[in-house]
Amino acid sequence: MMQDMSTRNDLNHVVEADKAHIWHHLLQHKPLETSDPRIIVEGKGMRVWDQNGKEFLDAVSGGVWTVNVGYGRESIAKAVYDQMMKICYFANSAGSVPGALYAEKLISKMPGMSRVYYTNSGSEANEKVFKMVRQIAHKKYGGKKTKILYRDRDYHGSTLAALSAGGQDERNVQYGPFAPDFVRVPHCMEYRKHELGLDHLSGAEFGRAAADLIEEVILREGPDTVGALCLEPVTAGGGVIEPPAGYWPRVQEICAKYDILLHIDEVVCGIGRTGTHWFGYQHYDIKPDFVTMAKGVASGYAAIACTVTSERVFEMFKDNADDPLNYFRDISTFGGCTAGPTAALENMRIIEDENLLENCAEMGEKLKSALQGLAEKHPVIGDVRGKGLFLGAELVSDRTAKTPVSEKQAQQVVAEMAAQGVLIGVTNRSVPGKNNTLCLSPALIITEEEIDIIISTLDAALTKVFS
Ligand code: PMP
Repeated sequence: MMQDMSTRNDLNHVVEADKAHIWHHLLQHKPLETSDPRIIVEGKGMRVWDQNGKEFLDAVSGGVWTVNVGYGRESIAKAVYDQMMKICYFANSAGSVPGALYAEKLISKMPGMSRVYYTNSGSEANEKVFKMVRQIAHKKYGGKKTKILYRDRDYHGSTLAALSAGGQDERNVQYGPFAPDFVRVPHCMEYRKHELGLDHLSGAEFGRAAADLIEEVILREGPDTVGALCLEPVTAGGGVIEPPAGYWPRVQEICAKYDILLHIDEVVCGIGRTGTHWFGYQHYDIKPDFVTMAKGVASGYAAIACTVTSERVFEMFKDNADDPLNYFRDISTFGGCTAGPTAALENMRIIEDENLLENCAEMGEKLKSALQGLAEKHPVIGDVRGKGLFLGAELVSDRTAKTPVSEKQAQQVVAEMAAQGVLIGVTNRSVPGKNNTLCLSPALIITEEEIDIIISTLDAALTKVFS
C-alpha cells in the first residue's frame, strides 16, 4: 500500500487521536505511553497494512478467527450498500427480506434445526440461550433445571452471565461475583489428561471417560436441577482443543438420559472454519438443541450473531398463548439491522461458489502437517492440535513434564512473527500454570504459498526466541 504525504499526515493525526481516546480491547495501555498502537488501515485478501504502510500476512483472520472470506470483498460491500438504501433497520418483531432469506439458507445447512434469532455478538447469542433455558426451567419444570453446565477451558463471551459460564480462567479473575447456577465440568484435553487422573487411557477410551466426568457432575448436582450443557465443538481461546473420539456420542447419551438440552457454541467454529462442514458439530454425530454463531457469519463485514434452535425448543414457547408472559420476552435492538443478514448471505454464497469448505479442509491438513514437521525440529512445540484452518501449537519448556513456556516467551514469538510480517495469536496465557498455545487460523482462501510463508517465518521466530 503506497501512502502519499497527506495520507501520512492524516494517519499521524489518527495515531494521536487513538492514543488520546481509545480504550483498546484486551490491552494493558501503559506501554502505549511510549509507543504507538498498531492501526490497521487497509486489507485485501489475506493481507492487511498498518499506519506505516507495513504489510502483514494475516494468519489469524482479523485477530480473532473472524474474516473467513478474506478482506476487500466488493460483492459484500455492494450488497450491503443496496440493502441500506432500501431499508437499513426495523425492529425484528417485524421481519426483513434479508433476515428471512438468510435464515432459510442457514437452516438448509443445519438439518434438525429450525429457528434463527438475530443478535450482535457471540456473547449475546449465548446469553439468549441461557435465558431460554431458564425460561424453559420455569415453564416446564416448576423452576427446577435452571443449572447450566459449562466446561473447563471453554469460553462463551464477555458479558457477565456468559463469563459465569467461562472456563478460560484468565478472563474471569477479578470480575466476580458471577451469576448463580453455572456449574463447571472438567476439560477433555488429551494432552493434559494427567490433570484429570486419566493418564492410563487414550483415544476413544479417554474420550468416553472424559465425558463420564460430566455425568459425575450431573449426579452430584442432581439431574432434576440441570437444564443445559454448553460446549464448544473445538475449544478456541482455551487452547484449541478437539475432543477425542468417544467423547461426543457419550455426551449425547448423557444429555438424553437426564433430559438436558445441548447447546453448541459455534462462535469460532461456525461457517466453515473447521473445513468440509459448515459447523464444527457436524463432524461428529451431534444433535444440538441450540447452536450459537457469530464471528464467521458475515466475516466481520457487519456485526451479526445468531442463536439457532430446534423446532422442539421453539414449540416450548408457543403453549398457553393467552398467558401474556408465555413467550420469549427478549429483544436485541440491532438484531433488526439488515446489513448483518445481507452480508451473511453474500458471505455464504462466496464460500459455496469458491469451494472454501474444501479449501479449508485441504489447506488445514497442509498447515497442520507443516506444524507437525516444525515440532520435530523445535522441541518447544509440545503438541499440535485442531481441525481445518483452526490450529494450535502448544509451547512447552519441557516435553515430558509439559511445563508451559512463560507468557513473555510466547508473546515474543508473536511479536517476532509480526516484525517479520506474519500475524498469529496466542491463547490462554496469563494465569500462572496455564499453557500457551500459538493460534493459527488464516482465512479459508489461503494458498499453499502463503502456508509456506507462515511456516518459514514461524521456524525463524522459534529459533530466535528459544535458542
Ligand atoms: N464463544 C466463543 C467460543 C468465543 O471464542 C467468543 C469470542 N472469542 C465468544 C463466544 C464471544 O463472542 P463475542 O466476542 O462476539 O461476544
